Amino acid sequence: MFMTKTILKNLLTKYATRLYPFQKRETFAHSRGELKIDMEKCILCGVCQMRCPSQCIKVDKQAKTWEVDPFSCVYCGVCVEACPVKCLYQEKLYRAAVAEKDMVMHVQQPKETAEPAAT
Ligand code: SF4
Ligand code: SF4
Repeated sequence: MFMTKTILKNLLTKYATRLYPFQKRETFAHSRGELKIDMEKCILCGVCQMRCPSQCIKVDKQAKTWEVDPFSCVYCGVCVEACPVKCLYQEKLYRAAVAEKDMVMHVQQPKETAEPAAT
């Protein structure tokens, strides 16, 4: 009898959970999300790599590349605060669910396009 009451109650009330991915929860105010970079501003100093507690950032000054492994990132924001030129930011979005865990975000600094001035 007790069970029947519970089953009926569950059938007649709304879901307790959201129908993800069709229904997504909005992020909370001041929540930190996925790490992004404005590579044009980055000076490849390596401070973010040194400060990251998860060791998920890799900066290669010679190859002019910056990499982050989003699955190791704990969204702490330490790199964002430490960056001297403020080119890192966190979008208010959580990382999307994926089937394969091999998603390293790799960014190459744009090559200088300006031709040297003729003398
Ligand atoms: S701290 Fe900022 S400027 Fe330095 S390598 Fe990291 S992202 Fe680039
Ligand atoms: S947010 Fe934290 S864990 Fe993620 S890359 Fe920056 S310093 Fe590392």
